[in-house]
Amino acid sequence: MNKGQINVQTENIFPVIKKFLYSEHDIFIRELIANAVDASQKLKTLHTMGKFEGELGDLTIDVKVDKEAKTITVSDHGIGMTAEEVDKYINQIAFSGAEEFLEKFKVEGGNIIGHFGLGFYSSFMVSEKVDIITKSYQPDTKAVMWSCTGSPDYEMSEVEKAERGTDIILHIAEDATEFLDESKIVALLRKYCRFLPIPIRCGEESKWEKPENAEAKEGEEVKEVEVKVPRIINNTNPLWKQTPSTIQQEDYLNFYRELYPMTFEEPLFQIHLNVDYPFNLTGILYFPKVKNQLEIQKNKVQLYCNQVFITDQLEGIIPEFMMLLHGVIDSPDIPLNVSRSYLQSDSNVKKISTHITKKVADKLEEMFKNDREDFEKKWDDLKVFIEYGCLTDEKFYERAKNFILFKNVDGKYYTMDEYRAGIETLQKDKNDTVVYLYAHDVNTQHVYIQSAKEKGYDVLLMDGFLDTHFINLLEPKIEKCRFARVDADVMEKLIEKDDVMPAKLSENEQNSLKEIFEKSADKEMFTVQIANLSESELPIMITQNEFMRRFKDMEKLSGQKSFYGDFNHYNLVVNGNHPLSTKILEETDTEKKDKMTQQLIDLALLSQNLLTGEKLSDFVKRSVEMM
Ligand code: ADP
Repeated sequence: MNKGQINVQTENIFPVIKKFLYSEHDIFIRELIANAVDASQKLKTLHTMGKFEGELGDLTIDVKVDKEAKTITVSDHGIGMTAEEVDKYINQIAFSGAEEFLEKFKVEGGNIIGHFGLGFYSSFMVSEKVDIITKSYQPDTKAVMWSCTGSPDYEMSEVEKAERGTDIILHIAEDATEFLDESKIVALLRKYCRFLPIPIRCGEESKWEKPENAEAKEGEEVKEVEVKVPRIINNTNPLWKQTPSTIQQEDYLNFYRELYPMTFEEPLFQIHLNVDYPFNLTGILYFPKVKNQLEIQKNKVQLYCNQVFITDQLEGIIPEFMMLLHGVIDSPDIPLNVSRSYLQSDSNVKKISTHITKKVADKLEEMFKNDREDFEKKWDDLKVFIEYGCLTDEKFYERAKNFILFKNVDGKYYTMDEYRAGIETLQKDKNDTVVYLYAHDVNTQHVYIQSAKEKGYDVLLMDGFLDTHFINLLEPKIEKCRFARVDADVMEKLIEKDDVMPAKLSENEQNSLKEIFEKSADKEMFTVQIANLSESELPIMITQNEFMRRFKDMEKLSGQKSFYGDFNHYNLVVNGNHPLSTKILEETDTEKKDKMTQQLIDLALLSQNLLTGEKLSDFVKRSVEMM
């Protein structure tokens, strides 16, 4: 028996591990499996290089939970370690010093954030004692057992071990007995080790199958019976590691289902990332259909490091708008043993992030160029993603402006340049500003859309939940332009031309008309305006100031309490040139006059969906009477 002290300056290193990593206890299993996989991969490499001539045999890693003995054992058939190696790698290297250790796991704001790469010693977070029984692949070496109770003292002795490889035996501590539940370990293995390249076995699972050699009775089928089979945790050859040219679209869909078994909607398309210079990055990013805010956080991009699951909290690691995507990225070049804020300023992370943005833009542009029709079909589902990208990443906007599409109320799609060319002549106002008209709902804004169409104008459909933000972004970027919702004012004012429609009514008459309407309209809600429009235009209209409305939309989206509260103010625009205006002015019977005025106001309210309840009933009654 050999006794010694692990080379650390402080005796209290294990309490430190426990204390600092309390929130991340479950990573011990990831660290042990990662080591076991490494040891197996190393052996495979030696084998290929001809440096190991023995049989590789079955390399499956076994994880055994023994509730009674209160142990968890991780066994591999990898390269194993000689006594010297245990001394070198476990006793000395892993803990070259407590200071360095603490340096590695810097505390930020009182919390330990770097929870990666702790390695073998993370097993002490859950164990009161850890044994290593290991036998090197090298011929004529003796197996050794190393044992440590979580103080810097360890014991080492020679033991008998038949097979090459390493068993790590954790004697689970009293405060960590929850890990003695096999289903818990299976869940952790599925979380962290689902795509590791060496098979991992833990316990058994049921399978229903027809027994071999069973003969069916006449007229009956052979009954399936339940059999127990070893439970294999992982898919050792995940799709992102395979060569894109060998993969069918169906494979991508199947892998998506494997990643997100609870999602039934298929993704739109995917990008297979495969970079090896200047950094290593592989992965598959799927574009889901993003239609509303709720869908955003459902499935997350998962970050792997050499096929070990690290996290799906990717804020700061990938560009913000990429968080809308699904899939996996795998990079050994993202430093994992440091804090998040460090990660965000890390140059590799920045490069990776920029690279992903570029790849995504490339893919979208290629789709747009190669098959415009198909791109248009996908546009409605892609729109939120692209708008979000433009809003949060200037570089992405620079690329995306070539394939951003505008859709009009008739369902036609245009690039920004095409659209500009189409509306430039007609929709230019007297100050040479080109006015982009839009509606957010074809049905409720029908009247206003019609009024624009009658003048030969085109109306865009802006019905997405980011559209108001997007319009704010575009307006200063597009040369001499202004966006206006069709119900923001009467058309004549939205696109003001040099020639003004002459007024049929005198100034006095206009003032009287205004007073008549002011008397009947709800003063809190409306400002009455008289406009001189063509006779064929509607006699009355409700409009809402573009900027006031946009401001409110933005407030709503950001979840802020509104500065204006729920208060909505509108303009009630009366067409002074309409024959009905003259009729009201000339009416001498006050009761009749009031009824006509009210009827017109209600009609306007109705076209904005603002007439409800008792007012609606009154309107119906009055309409019948007037007929
Ligand atoms: P890291 O894995 O980050 O190097 P660890 O503390 O987990 O740090 O392990 C230290 C070293 O111990 C490893 O680099 C490896 O050489 C050796 N080791 C750990 N586990 C095993 C194992 N299952 N088989 C063979 N060697 C191992």
